[in-house]
Amino acid sequence: MIPGPIEFESEVLQCMSVPTLSHVDPDFINIFANSLKLLKEVCQSTSGQAFIIAGTGTFAMDMAAANLVETGDKALVISTGYFGLRFAEILKRYGAEVDILEAVVGNIVPLELIEQQLKSKSYKLLTFTHVDTSTAVLNDAKSIGDLGKKYKVLTILDGVCSVAGEEIQQEEWGIDVVLTSSQKAIGVPPGLALLVASKAAIKAFEQRKNPVSNYYGDWANWLPIMKAYENRQASYFGTPPVNLIMALEKSLQIITNEGLKNRFDRHQRAGTAMRAAIKAVGLELLSKNEQTSSNTLTAPLYPSKIAPKSFLQATNEEGVILAGGLLPELKNNYFRIGHMGSVNKADLLATIGAIETVLKKHGSTHVLGSGSAEILKHF
Ligand code: PMP
Repeated sequence: MIPGPIEFESEVLQCMSVPTLSHVDPDFINIFANSLKLLKEVCQSTSGQAFIIAGTGTFAMDMAAANLVETGDKALVISTGYFGLRFAEILKRYGAEVDILEAVVGNIVPLELIEQQLKSKSYKLLTFTHVDTSTAVLNDAKSIGDLGKKYKVLTILDGVCSVAGEEIQQEEWGIDVVLTSSQKAIGVPPGLALLVASKAAIKAFEQRKNPVSNYYGDWANWLPIMKAYENRQASYFGTPPVNLIMALEKSLQIITNEGLKNRFDRHQRAGTAMRAAIKAVGLELLSKNEQTSSNTLTAPLYPSKIAPKSFLQATNEEGVILAGGLLPELKNNYFRIGHMGSVNKADLLATIGAIETVLKKHGSTHVLGSGSAEILKHF
């Protein structure tokens, strides 16, 4: 129950063990074309350009920055934790002049502050982390998209911990880049960088004055490949990770067969239930506000009577693997529970059951079963 890599569906894992097709085999070309199409469906973009490339989420961030930033461009980073600050570092590498609006830990940056900042300078782009995996804070992507449109700023959404778990209407909300990776709510083992760029983002890339300074991530190399696969033609720039892409097609089919609305609702119920359960057993949450708490993971504060390491070890002995804190300054204050992908009622019950048991063993006064009752109420 960590926030990625998650537990994968067996049908997806089976794709990892079939004989590897040639990257120009007609069957694989179809699989690639379907995956590109389904990725756009999940991001709810009809006119965007999808990219599926070997790499991790960080590479997807790197690729967005490398292709959209030129030296001296102004960029605004809206940071709700660890991954916002990472984006700032990446943007600086490509010569951007970066301003950071940093949220108070566990909160979002208020929209009024973002608007005030956008009014004060002419930014080329802004980035925000839809769900920051270090704080379990959920940004209001629609409203940030609206601000991007209003101030004509390219908006880049880091959706590594949100795509296929939290609703994103890329086209409708005017988000220019949605990027993610395979190992979280997308439901595929680590190794894929996934990105959908709007027409405006591609245009901004085409209007660059200087070539992209990152060879592997240069859209000039990848655009013809993605377009070829979309048109069901063979093409080559770098050998695609064939089995991962076979697994991706399978997982995207599972996601779209469930139906996006059903899937987002299920995640929302899991998030609401887990937060309620955590509070019911007497623990506090790092994300301060129900409206801005993510549904893909929960970040509770550690109980005061147990050392953090012993707590994680004890829940592990109860059969549930949880993750420690990620923000360097608060690492020992909180832990994280991932609940995305195929997560179900039984997973949530097992998780809160393990937490309750450990708390009780360490003298907690909560009524045993009160956390589990919250899960049952929501499912
Ligand atoms: N952004 C967010 C929000 C993430 O959660 C992560 C990974 N946990 C990344 C970016 C980086 O992704 P990766 O580890 O796949 O490089």
